[in-house]
Amino acid sequence: MAYDYIIVGAGSAGCVLANRLSADPKNRVLLLEAGPEDKNVWIHVPLGYGRNIDNPAVNWCFESQPEEYCHGQRYFLPRGKVLGGTSSINGMVYVRGQVEDFDGWAQAGCRGWSYDDVLPYFIKCETNSRGASDLHGGDGPLQISDVGEETVINRAMLAAGQEIGIHFNPDINGRVQEGIGWHQASIGKGRRCSTATAYLKPVRHRKNLDVQPEALVRRVLFDGKRAVGVEYDRSGSRHEARAGGAVILSGGAFASPQILELSGIGDPARLQTLGIPVVHDLPGVGENLQDHFAAHLRWRVKNARTFNDRTRGLRAMAEGLNYILRRKGVLTQPTFAIAAYIRTRPELASPDVQLQFFTATYKALGDRSLDPEPGVTIGACPLRLEGRGQVHAQSPDHRAPPAIWHNLLATEGDRRTAVSAMRTSRALMATEAMKPHFEFETTPGPDAQADDELLDYARRFGRSCLHPASTCKMGVDAMAVVDPSLKVHGVEGLRVADASVMPNVVCGNTNAATIMIGEKAADMILAEQNSS
Ligand SMILES: Cc1cc2nc3c(=O)[nH]c(=O)nc-3n(C[C@H](O)[C@H](O)[C@H](O)COP(=O)(O)OP(=O)(O)OC[C@H]3O[C@@H](n4cnc5c(N)ncnc54)[C@H](O)[C@@H]3O)c2cc1C
Repeated sequence: MAYDYIIVGAGSAGCVLANRLSADPKNRVLLLEAGPEDKNVWIHVPLGYGRNIDNPAVNWCFESQPEEYCHGQRYFLPRGKVLGGTSSINGMVYVRGQVEDFDGWAQAGCRGWSYDDVLPYFIKCETNSRGASDLHGGDGPLQISDVGEETVINRAMLAAGQEIGIHFNPDINGRVQEGIGWHQASIGKGRRCSTATAYLKPVRHRKNLDVQPEALVRRVLFDGKRAVGVEYDRSGSRHEARAGGAVILSGGAFASPQILELSGIGDPARLQTLGIPVVHDLPGVGENLQDHFAAHLRWRVKNARTFNDRTRGLRAMAEGLNYILRRKGVLTQPTFAIAAYIRTRPELASPDVQLQFFTATYKALGDRSLDPEPGVTIGACPLRLEGRGQVHAQSPDHRAPPAIWHNLLATEGDRRTAVSAMRTSRALMATEAMKPHFEFETTPGPDAQADDELLDYARRFGRSCLHPASTCKMGVDAMAVVDPSLKVHGVEGLRVADASVMPNVVCGNTNAATIMIGEKAADMILAEQNSS
C-alpha cells in the first residue's frame, strides 16, 4: 500500500500528526498503532487510571533494568499501548513546563523552539475552560479544565504552602511556574481527553486517513539512506506499507529509539552485536534518557476525606451515582490536583522540584491498592536531574521489550535535591494549616531523620516519575538524533516526533509538551510540502 505519510504510534504526538496531516484530502496518511481501539471504559472515566496502570491489555508494562544507584531496584514502567498511547492511561495533569525549558532548547541550537516559538502551538492545542487569552486557547481539540475539588484537605494544602512561604500561583501554565496552585487537567465534561478522543475520533471518517490498530511495526524500510516505508505485523501476518513523503516515528521515548535501532540506525557496534545491518551510524540513538524522579512520602490524616475512603463501601456507591448522574465527584479527578513548584537553592533561576499532592495513599509500599484509612501522599520530584540513562534494543526481535536504565540518583547533586524536596514535603505537613489533619507519617516514618536515612528510603522506594524523554534528542551536536525540523540526521524521509525529541525534559509532566511537539511537527511538514 502506498501513502504520503506513515505515522508509527497513535500516542500523544501520533494522533495529533494523523489529524493535522490528513486535514489536506490530498495527503494519504497511515497511522499504525500496536495497541487496540480505546474501548476499555476505564480509559474514559478519569479516576479509572488506577485500573489501567498495570493492565497489559492497554499497557506495555515495561520494567527497568536494575538501577545501580537505587539498590538494584527494578521499577515498573507503564506506557500506553492503545489508541491515544500514554495519553489514554496517564494522570491527566496538564503542565506545559517552564519558559526556561524551551528557551534552553533554542539556546542549545534548536532554532524555532524557544518559548515564544512554541507558545502558539500550546494555544492551538487547547480549549481551556478559563477561556481564550494571550496564553490559552479557546477552540483547540484538547479540553483543558479546572477540575480540582475544593475539599478540606486540598484547601489545607494550599494554605500550608503559603504558610511556609510558597506563594499561590493562579496559573502554573503561565509565564512563571513557581508557586503552589491548582493544576488544570486534560479532562472535559467529566471524561478523559486523550489525543485519541480529541484529535483522532473526530476525523476517523476521513477517507485519506487509514488507522490500523493492533499493528506492531518491525522496522523502517530503506532504499539506500532514504526511508521508503515500514514493515509491520497485523492479524498474524507481515505487511509492508510505502511512504512517498515521510515515515514519522511517534512511538514514545522507549519505542522510537528501539525502532530506529531495529531499522539499522544507531551505534554500529551495538547494532552489530544484535546482528542488525547498519544503515546509518548515529551514536546518540537511545542515549540521553531523561526523566523526573519521585520519592513518595505518606501520612495518615483525620478530619478530612480522601480518595481512600471515598472509593469504599457506601461512599463509593454514592460517588458512582454522582458521576453517572452529574459527572461530578471523585471519579472526575486527575491523579493530583495541586502541586508546588519550588527552588531548592535560592540562586536557581526557576524551580527544580515539583511537590505533587495526592489525596490518596497506597496500602503498602509496592502495593497499588488504596489504603482503607484516609491518607495523603506527597511526591517529592526533582525536575532537572543531572544523571542520564539509556534505552536500547536488547534483541533483534521487535517483540522483545527494550532495555531501560534511568540511572536515577546517579549524582551527588540529584541526591541532595531529592533529600531537600523530601524535607520541604515534611515542612508542608508540619504547618498550622495541616495540624487539624495530621495523624502520623506512615512512610518513611518519623525514625528516618538524617539525610542518609531519607536518601536510603528514596533509593529503595523512589522511582521514575514516568516522564521519559530525550532518547532521540533534537539538536545539532554529535549525539543529536534529529535536527530542529525533527528529521533524523544522515538519512532522508524519516522524522521522529514524540517525547523522545526533547533536548532536555521539560520541568513538569510531559503530555502537554509532547502534544505541542506533534502540532509543531505537523506544521513544519505541511509547510515544507506546500513550499515544494
Ligand atoms: C502512568 C502514567 C501517568 C502519567 N501522567 C501524566 C500526567 O498526569 N500528565 C502528563 O503531562 N504526563 C503524564 N505522563 C506522561 C505522558 O503521558 C507522556 O509523556 C506522553 O503521553 C508521551 O507521549 P508520546 O507520544 O511520546 O508517547 P505515547 O503516548 O506513549 O505514544 C506512543 C505510541 O506508540 C505505540 N507504539 C510503540 N511501539 C510501537 C510499534 N513498534 N508499532 C506500533 N506502535 C507502537 C504505543 O503503543 C503508543 O500508543 C504519564 C505517564 C504514565 C506512564
